[in-house]
Amino acid sequence: MDPIYLDHAATTPVRGEVLEAMLPFLGERFGNPSSMHRWGRDARVALDEARERVATCLGAHVDEIIFTSCGTEGDNLAVLGAWRTQRASAAGRNAVAVTPIEHKAVLAAAHQAEAEGAELRLLPVSCEGVVDMDAVRAAMDDSLAICSVMWINNEIGTVQPVPEIAELARESGVLFHTDAVQALGKVEIDVGRLPVSMLAVSGHKIGAPKGIGALFIRRGTTMQPLFFGGGQDRGRRPGTENVAYAVGFATAVELAVAEREEECRRLRDFRERLELAIMQQVPDAVIHGSGADRAPHIINVSVPGCDAESLLMALDLRGVAASAGSACQSGAASVSHVLSALGVGADEAMSALRLSLGSLTTDDHVTRVSELLPALVHKARGSAAVA
Ligand code: PLP
Repeated sequence: MDPIYLDHAATTPVRGEVLEAMLPFLGERFGNPSSMHRWGRDARVALDEARERVATCLGAHVDEIIFTSCGTEGDNLAVLGAWRTQRASAAGRNAVAVTPIEHKAVLAAAHQAEAEGAELRLLPVSCEGVVDMDAVRAAMDDSLAICSVMWINNEIGTVQPVPEIAELARESGVLFHTDAVQALGKVEIDVGRLPVSMLAVSGHKIGAPKGIGALFIRRGTTMQPLFFGGGQDRGRRPGTENVAYAVGFATAVELAVAEREEECRRLRDFRERLELAIMQQVPDAVIHGSGADRAPHIINVSVPGCDAESLLMALDLRGVAASAGSACQSGAASVSHVLSALGVGADEAMSALRLSLGSLTTDDHVTRVSELLPALVHKARGSAAVA
């Protein structure tokens, strides 16, 4: 039987169309886009086209897209770069507001700003994993330099009210960044209508290679760069551009956007079937964020009385790859910061599994995991109900 990959929120395989689009730029079309000669001009044209294609998919102007090495870089640049600029400006805005369920790429950047003197405002989330809009409203004052709220949470899949927050930020004159790494291909992204200042995406979640992403920076938004060097990307992101990956990324974004509605329907159907099967056979299982609007591809389920690491190993032995909701790091149990922000207790958090669906998921995989996972839970609990 073929192995089952249920870890698409971690990463996805490179799509054939993406690889095909990239290959010429890893071979004969190898030029540096800053060179004046024919190889350079060829690379420049390809890079400009890739930028244009990404901009079109996101509803942006072409000069509002910079290519990054990953989602982490985009998040870091948005949060830290914008905060440093704001603090240094005449208005001297000094606060950074984030939710406690952000990816570490945002959280660590916010903590870095705090170490450099920022006031950090943590916006509380409900027990379902959705940010409290009253707290967001209260945080939007004259001293707030930047607010950053992710669109789709990577651990539990909850969808944050990003359009409402963006509107509030616009009215309050506050810069607003959203980490849309898990949202690309899952929600409609049109920065022409959505008043965000910045938005970060990453290639490897949508079938492009690891090592490429993009940051949308709205015209008029200034930020200090993280890198220093050549003048590429008008100094916002110096460094010789990765033309092959930019071309591959543009292809992946076009495909993700074109296929979004149908793929979301397919994955939502799978997710619902899987959740129903789990809840019917393991009635005390807890699906985190189930009362909130959730992305179609992520299930985070705690199985009381079971240890997630042991379940994962048992799944792996049977060819199923998933991930733990909380991690065991260097032998020490570390409770997920997301689950703990939801108020989930340590034992429940340590029994959490994340199953994330995507391009490799088939109907047959859903059927097999719907049977296997409950059986393994019953076995782990020593129940007589083992199949
Ligand atoms: N933000 C979210 C929500 C993510 O899920 C991830 C990756 O897991 C990142 C940021 C970081 O992206 P990258 O792996 O491209 O650095």
